[in-house]
Amino acid sequence: MDLQLSHRTVLVTGASSGVGLATTRMLLEEGANVAACARDLPRLRSAVSALGDIDHERVHLHAGDVTDSESMQEFARSTAARFGGVDGVVCNAGRSLMAPLAETSDQQIRDEIELKIFGSLNVVRGAHTFLVDSPSASVVNVNAILAHQPESRLAATSAARAALLNLTHSMAADLAADDIRVNSVLLGLVDTGQWRKRFEASDTTTDYRTWSADIAVDRGIALGRFGTADEVAFHIVTLLSPLSSYTTGTAIAVGGGISRYV
Ligand code: NDP
Repeated sequence: MDLQLSHRTVLVTGASSGVGLATTRMLLEEGANVAACARDLPRLRSAVSALGDIDHERVHLHAGDVTDSESMQEFARSTAARFGGVDGVVCNAGRSLMAPLAETSDQQIRDEIELKIFGSLNVVRGAHTFLVDSPSASVVNVNAILAHQPESRLAATSAARAALLNLTHSMAADLAADDIRVNSVLLGLVDTGQWRKRFEASDTTTDYRTWSADIAVDRGIALGRFGTADEVAFHIVTLLSPLSSYTTGTAIAVGGGISRYV
């Protein structure tokens, strides 16, 4: 099936690893131009280069922090200057803060909220002037099932995720007037750099596969395993496609059946 993404231009934040990198690869495979952003430029460059046989003429790299509004404006501006416009935005950059609430400082809570809220707003505001000129503009906010279903040791992240989900609904309503669609993809537990780092920092004596399967069972994931970055990227790319033209203000949960909130 042709997703009609060829020659369209998409901004992807957090593109050097995990879901962002998988989304970048899939978009390039679909013939899109990709503007990829992360803070660590050498790591971003090497991750994108490692994608193998890609057309580097269709990739634009930007080193920047999504909480820096000027940097995100420059990200969108430089992308539009290079490719002639912007058709899609994937607000994916992020992390989670694992700590009991009693041990979480006020500043850490503020930082979580800033990252989740402005990690989307700054990029979308920077790209808005270009998105309004696109024949099929689409924004995807990568979020977490935690937005509905908080977990222990993730209170600050869960609250910030809920705020982002709420904001996404407002963005979808407001930007519909400009024919810009805005949707969320809600992740459960996905096998990316975040979990590899946690495994390395843990004192487990088992291998990664056993360690992650135990967590999946403990968290009640019906499919009994973590998801893969590709399993998330597929939904992001689908929402970016002009074929999703009547889908806005919705959230797709990609959690292997972890959701218990419905
Ligand atoms: P990874 O840890 O694999 O990658 C995170 C990416 O975001 C990196 O490219 C990193 O690069 C970039 N990044 C982090 N902070 C910033 C920032 N302030 N500005 C710009 N870039 C930044 O993430 P995942 O693929 O695992 O996750 C993708 C998204 O999904 C994240 O928002 C994450 O919180 C969320 N999520 C993930 C889950 C999971 O189980 N993996 C579960 C629920 C939600 P650099 O450090 O160089 O900036």
